[in-house]
Amino acid sequence: MSLDIQAVEPSTEGARQFLARPDRQMFIGGQWSDAASGERIDAIDPATGRRIATVPAGAGPDVDRAVAAAREAFDSGPWPKMTPMERAAILWRVADLMEANIDELAELETLDQGKPLGVGRWAEIPGAIGQFRYFSGQTLRTEGSTIPTSINYQPPGKEVFAYTLKQPVGVVAAIVPWNSPIIMAAMKLAPALAAGCTVVLKPAEDTSLTALRMAELMQEAGIPDGVVNVVTGYGAAAGAALAAHPQVNKVAFTGSTTTGRAILDAAKGNLKRVHLELGGKSPVIIMPDADLGMAVPGAANGIFFNAGQVCVAGSRLYAHRSVYDQVLEGVAEAGNNLKLGHGLDPSTQLGPVVSVRQAERIMDYVEGSRRDGASIVSGGSQDGPTGCFIRPTVVADVRADMSIVREEVFGPVLVCTRFDEIDEVIAQANDSDYGLAASVWTEHLGTAHRMAERIHSGTVWVNCHLMFDPSLPIGGVKQSGWGRDSGQQAIENYLETKSVCMVM
Ligand code: NAD
Repeated sequence: MSLDIQAVEPSTEGARQFLARPDRQMFIGGQWSDAASGERIDAIDPATGRRIATVPAGAGPDVDRAVAAAREAFDSGPWPKMTPMERAAILWRVADLMEANIDELAELETLDQGKPLGVGRWAEIPGAIGQFRYFSGQTLRTEGSTIPTSINYQPPGKEVFAYTLKQPVGVVAAIVPWNSPIIMAAMKLAPALAAGCTVVLKPAEDTSLTALRMAELMQEAGIPDGVVNVVTGYGAAAGAALAAHPQVNKVAFTGSTTTGRAILDAAKGNLKRVHLELGGKSPVIIMPDADLGMAVPGAANGIFFNAGQVCVAGSRLYAHRSVYDQVLEGVAEAGNNLKLGHGLDPSTQLGPVVSVRQAERIMDYVEGSRRDGASIVSGGSQDGPTGCFIRPTVVADVRADMSIVREEVFGPVLVCTRFDEIDEVIAQANDSDYGLAASVWTEHLGTAHRMAERIHSGTVWVNCHLMFDPSLPIGGVKQSGWGRDSGQQAIENYLETKSVCMVM
């Protein structure tokens, strides 16, 4: 391993101050506290292996306390009863405070997660701010309906009047992953809070720092005590206790499909509502008439952005035989040209993956495919002092049954297949347990529309990949999950519909 990575200190006063108090506490009922067990988890800069902070290893008793605080805030606190205008104003203030502290948040996220500063600063944190602004607006638009019924057995001379009420579901457990911590948290918090719910947020054990900073900002914005609680801890302890908790009304989960199944099992005790945003293995389909000037860099960005740690990463490339060699060469070259470095170095284009464990998992897939007869066209190695830098990897000569083609690698690793016919590539694209996203690259409008209809996924991008907006629903079909985040209907994830039917 030859990549020499030196620790880089944050430049913002806010990030320096945050890290000057390295033993952080979790946030329950508006107060900061340690785990009942006193145990802690190290927050590691994956680029250097340096410990930058520690967070409490919360577990059952801490979850009990947090759920009790959220329950009380929901049952007798002001939040669910506030006028929509009041709640909207507070959510808008959260967004303003995030914007005012965006450089600090971006630096903390980079140190904790590894991503290049620009990924947080210009993509993910603006996206998270957008969630709070969008759902601030949705707060004002949560409406039931009046329903014209056909009931005709009311007493003579009486009329039936029926309508629906939209009411918050209650206490929400939001459990989120480590790939894009702030935006993953915002995609749950903003609609849940807009609906009038209270929340216990459990960030991933590898990336808890920005959730704790967000809790400070939310308190400063005027979110009442107990409405947002943050319990840090391992999934098997804190996450599992939350998913099983009888006083939690709903689990909003983003993470792997395996954990999604465990959450379903845990949630069945009190039949709590469950909403799952899970893994993906998204196809990128390059048709013979594609504009390769867009498609090649687009495919490279689709898999190498955030080191491939993106649920909708374009990790399976299907290129038409007539352009396959050119596309493969172009994507491999784009990967080889990316500058690897510490995320806080402004010239870095590709940072480390989140942890040594994740780097090893990725390399197991690459080595396994090599053993199974695939060709590593570029990359295929790890680097840096911790081994967390994975060189952008393009893999060819794969078969549809290989695990590197079927399973989510969650790293900068692209598997490539050529095709001849449109029906063949649609069948290849749909031959997956997942169905999160896909992209189609073509200059033919009819092809674009036909393929968008036939591909089994929650999102289809045409001549682009990784385009997000708080107004655009995102989520999966098949084993990529249940339900959608973002978009108008996402607030419905956190609302119950009550029918009121009266005879008058
Ligand atoms: P993970 O499933 O291992 O962990 C996600 C969260 O669940 C973490 O907070 C973890 O502590 C917690 N957890 C783990 N075991 C648990 C249990 N038994 N009970 C309750 N909680 C538990 O996922 P990850 O490795 O952190 O993240 C990567 C995964 O997230 C990938 O599969 C990726 O595709 C997925 N993801 C999906 C989306 C989407 O919108 N569909 C977005 C981002 C990431």
